[in-house]
Amino acid sequence: MTDKYDVIVIGGGPGGYAAAIRAAQHGFKTACIEKRVGAEGKPALGGTCLNVGCIPSKALLDSSWKFHEAQQSFAEHGIQVDGVKIDVAAMQKRKDSVVAQLTGGIASLFQANKVTWLQGTGKLLAGKAIEFTPLDGGASQTLNAEHVILAAGSEPVEIPVAPLVEDKVVDSTGALAFTEVPKRLGVIGAGIIGLELGSVWSRLGAEVVVLEAVDTLLANVDKQIAREAGKTFKKQGLDIRLGARVLSTDTDGDEVKVTYADKDGEHTETFDKLIVAVGRRPNTNGLLAPDSGVTFDERNYIFADNQCRTEVTGVYAIGDLVRGPALAHKALEEGVMVADVIAGEHTQVNYDAIAAVIYTHPEIAWVGKTEDEVKAAGDNYKTGVVPFAANGRALASGEATGMVKFVADADNDRILGMHVIGPQASELIQQGVIALEFGATIEDLQLMVFSHPTLSETVHEAALAADFKAIHIAQRRRK
Ligand code: FAD
Ligand code: AMP
Repeated sequence: MTDKYDVIVIGGGPGGYAAAIRAAQHGFKTACIEKRVGAEGKPALGGTCLNVGCIPSKALLDSSWKFHEAQQSFAEHGIQVDGVKIDVAAMQKRKDSVVAQLTGGIASLFQANKVTWLQGTGKLLAGKAIEFTPLDGGASQTLNAEHVILAAGSEPVEIPVAPLVEDKVVDSTGALAFTEVPKRLGVIGAGIIGLELGSVWSRLGAEVVVLEAVDTLLANVDKQIAREAGKTFKKQGLDIRLGARVLSTDTDGDEVKVTYADKDGEHTETFDKLIVAVGRRPNTNGLLAPDSGVTFDERNYIFADNQCRTEVTGVYAIGDLVRGPALAHKALEEGVMVADVIAGEHTQVNYDAIAAVIYTHPEIAWVGKTEDEVKAAGDNYKTGVVPFAANGRALASGEATGMVKFVADADNDRILGMHVIGPQASELIQQGVIALEFGATIEDLQLMVFSHPTLSETVHEAALAADFKAIHIAQRRRK
């Protein structure tokens, strides 16, 4: 094996694999070091996202939603089904095959682009050298590269009050691999991951209680959307207890006893299984020699500037290792940006136009500023809000819950934020991303022709509503 590369990437998740592919596209001799062993016991690319994150969670969310629909809403469409049952093993097998297809796809892309996949662990040493320890037990060796991209991602935060206990108290990875539906499931943390995983098992019949320390649901989501989300989750039977801080867990018996405190005092709940979903932290364990020169920011992420340069010239850090939202698309675009920057191109991720999505049902998605953020900044603003109940397509498919909301600058009409709770919010929000990227105004969207009947018409109507011009809802002008 050669030990000299133009670019070495440590980590083969969305950030790392995209960086490696783009670097190879630029003609650089590129290697990507990845230590992960996948569910089949073989080395796997794709990182958290493809193996134990975005993709398997969406596979289970989709399977569980189909089950829920067959039970709850087919009859409304005149479809009679008796004896609907869930086969968890088959559902998990399907999930695993989706994961295998996608992770294998990255390996093929590496081959096609001539990226060398080094299966093992990478560690950054002083002077930009890299120690590579192969997975196959071979001797470690020192590699060198002009440019190093750190893309080691993140891992679940563990809390001392709820240590993991195999098959009983699990993190998100364990919760994606349950072999049966728990009767009573506890979830610590009502963040994106807790809500998505809680939804999966609740749809399949588990009684789910979510314990959240903070007393506001989805505190960083626009208030109006978060309120609607709270109402919908309640209707769906998700028991979300806010202001509930977990104090201890007891796994001595067959079940898990959880003690938590809220404003009324201490309470104990008993569950078959408990998911700990209290956030993720950068995966810097064993990644850096003490004299690597790479530094950390005040929140313990690897310090990176706007173009992901660390304090060491020629060493970059991207994705969940660095500041900003822990999202796969953010990691991926940072990877592409760094490879372009190394090639001498001027590329800059637009950090103001990165959407976030919660894949509950209905989905929740947002990009840009919330109404409260704009209000707090003292800006002169306007909002346009239209419910999906006024949308023909949403009604036709029985998905007329939620709304689209725009927040815009009242002086120059520029769109500042878009917020959606409703059907296909994950897809609709991309219209807000494009609008923000192009510096679009509310009028730009008002003047566009949207196909009928589509969910996107609610985007159009919400833009119209910002100026009291909506056609399909009755609006009264505020004085
Ligand atoms: P990762 O994907 O974490 O990849 C890093 C890789 O580096 C890992 O495979 C690791 O094995 C490897 N590595 C670490 N250290 C070393 C080393 N020293 N040597 C060699 N290899 C190393 N985001 C979304 O945008 N949408 C979603 O729907 C979504 N759903 C999620 C659901 C769940 C349950 C979870 C847990 C996460 C989800 N995320 C989602 C977040 C998303 O997975 C991450 O933001 C994304 O994977 C970050 O990409 P990354 O490339 O920075 O790191
Ligand atoms: P996120 O970081 O978005 O995945 O969300 C994790 C959530 O877990 C946050 O909303 C935290 O408030 C919550 N959390 C963290 N520790 C505890 C705890 N001990 N008990 C209950 N909730 C917690």
